Amino acid sequence: MEGMPEPKEIVICGLDGVIALLEHRLHHLYNDDGVKDWDRFLEACTDDMPNLPLIDRLNQARGEGVPVMIVTGRSSAVREQTIEWLRQWHIGYDGLVMRPAGDFTSAGKFKAAVIERSFTGATIRRVYESTRQLEVARWCAQQDIPCTLIGPNQGNGESREVFELKVVNHACGHIALHPFYGDDDVAWDERVHQLADTPCRLCQAEEMAKERKQKADEARLAAREQGLPPLEGSEKQVEWAEGIRIKAFSAVNKVLKWTDQVSAEAEAEDPDHWSTVTQGIKRAIAYLEEQVDAKWWIDHRHGIMNNLDGGRALLSAVAEQEGYF
Ligand SMILES: [Zn+2]
Repeated sequence: MEGMPEPKEIVICGLDGVIALLEHRLHHLYNDDGVKDWDRFLEACTDDMPNLPLIDRLNQARGEGVPVMIVTGRSSAVREQTIEWLRQWHIGYDGLVMRPAGDFTSAGKFKAAVIERSFTGATIRRVYESTRQLEVARWCAQQDIPCTLIGPNQGNGESREVFELKVVNHACGHIALHPFYGDDDVAWDERVHQLADTPCRLCQAEEMAKERKQKADEARLAAREQGLPPLEGSEKQVEWAEGIRIKAFSAVNKVLKWTDQVSAEAEAEDPDHWSTVTQGIKRAIAYLEEQVDAKWWIDHRHGIMNNLDGGRALLSAVAEQEGYF
């Protein structure tokens, strides 16, 4: 065949947690509220920092004529933003395969399928992947493809070449694989023992979910005792919103206590003004009591703090919005 010969070797590289450092947005997925906001997590990708040491390596490979293919589980819904981000940081690459929007195949399965389908003729020199994608690492191990895993918080350090997957029998009875890095293998056995004394990640997550549920039940009970109406929404939304609402009303109660304390003096000073204020507070509280939509509480959660100032800010925001003052 005439023309360019097929490249003999290629490098395959992931994006999230590999080239793009995403620690700053993981809180959209892993937080005390236990709710995964995938949309916000995805949208925040434009603020990622680049993993410069890795990019140096990729450039080195490209300099040697080895194409770099980015294969990512990131949704193609943000393809334009991703291309712009790569351009902005001067990251060279020779192909970008993103997971189609709405495709919920696991990232590992998706990547393995892309590699098998699209790069059959090529020899894969190395795959760079995130420690969050052990599925890919396992697949590479099966195919005898060298795989470098990039761990968290290594943006300014070296990526870790040496890794091993260790089998850990966790205290909960589950068996899990854990990645180990670097050449400090003398400490590995100790770490395996430490891990074995703890429950696996799934069981830990389950435990946290249980605690959250318990907190939500307590909040629901407190809401009923205070005569607040039941919230409406999905089970998860209601569970989340109960805690937010009870926090809001705890702050509101602090405001009521404060008005009791200052009312005599405030009334003597300016009765008209004080009457407007107390009426506004009353109507704002009534407005909040009527909010039974769990989503409303979730949407307003950032403005709610359980202290006097937080309560005052919340009530005046409502009063202003509704024109009570
Ligand atoms: Zn377990």
